[in-house]
Amino acid sequence: MSFTRRQLGGLALGALAARAQQGERKIGYAMVGLGRISMQHLAPGLKASKTARVTALVSGHREKAEKMAAEYGIPAKNIYSYQNYDAIAENKDIDAVYVALPNSMHAEYTIRAAKAGKHVLCEKPMATTVADAQAMIDACRQANRQLMIAYRCQFEPTTLRARELVRSGKLGKIQAIESANGFNIRAGEWRLNMKLAGGGPLMDMGIYSLNACRFLTGEEPANIQASWSVVDGDGRFNEVEENLAWTMKFPSGTVVSCNTTYGADMPGFYRVHGSKGIMHVEPAFGYEGLRLMARVQGEPAIDEPNLQKDPLQFTREADHLAESILRGGELRASGEEGMRDMKIMMEIYRACGRRVG
Ligand code: NAD
Repeated sequence: MSFTRRQLGGLALGALAARAQQGERKIGYAMVGLGRISMQHLAPGLKASKTARVTALVSGHREKAEKMAAEYGIPAKNIYSYQNYDAIAENKDIDAVYVALPNSMHAEYTIRAAKAGKHVLCEKPMATTVADAQAMIDACRQANRQLMIAYRCQFEPTTLRARELVRSGKLGKIQAIESANGFNIRAGEWRLNMKLAGGGPLMDMGIYSLNACRFLTGEEPANIQASWSVVDGDGRFNEVEENLAWTMKFPSGTVVSCNTTYGADMPGFYRVHGSKGIMHVEPAFGYEGLRLMARVQGEPAIDEPNLQKDPLQFTREADHLAESILRGGELRASGEEGMRDMKIMMEIYRACGRRVG
């Protein structure tokens, strides 16, 4: 009997559901930072999970937290502020924390979680400096806790299918990859503040292209060249870059070129050019509506829209860490994976003469 990838995904979720029905406890997550990604995506994703749930909230806004606590059935004793956050150590309802704060705060809240004996799911980019990223890895290792970086695309069927087409040789030898991802940012966002963001669109949006190219090929890049610019002199880009373009080369010889921006609507995509075929994934990094198209010599065209809806990507990533905590399986998208992107992004900044943390 053979299964499609979608059927296999369904079977895996089915197995989790069966175990949950057998009475296995769910992993409890504390949400640290109640902003867009945590409230609108990860928390709803956990609602749909059979292995994990939201059990605590950490916020600077008590009223917002109380409203969310009511929606998720979270007791008042499980609402924390940033000041009494370390008291999560005594709370058995919390197995893991989800860090969804501005980038430069990821390190502090990951390290404090590890010291409190909790596992961590930390948003990308994992930190704003390589030194912070290393301190996070060290703290989690010392505490014998898992550290996962929220690379949701790595658990998502379209990305996995794209990787299979690349790695199976179906597209032939991979000659070149192009990718882009960006958006037109509003003034006043913390993302424009260097201290909080650690960089501009590269750290926030370009990281998707970088991680996808590494994930698809399984290769680590060298020969990095880059340039950046500010086109809009309207005050938004006094601290971080507006545009950044970079090229890199993988050991196989595949050449890669990527663009990112905070100054224009730049739909996320990647295009892979192989000696036997071409694959185009767009949207490639959204929460839903992904689509993979490919043309391989002598074969019918491939056109695979992904009909899965938000927040399933978030359920999958939260379940992955939960599974790893419950059963000790291999953790993908680990702190070390986040570190590889951190080091490359710093190299990209160095290559174009920007400051490096
Ligand atoms: P957001 O601005 O919506 O939320 C940030 C949260 O941090 C808010 O609750 C805010 O109150 C809190 N906060 C605490 N101290 C703060 C401070 N000094 N300044 C500003 N906010 C402060 O941001 P977001 O879009 O939810 O992003 C949070 C993290 O998640 C970022 O690291 C971002 O890169 C990442 N993210 C990941 C994805 C994904 O798909 N994986 C998508 C969006 C964002």
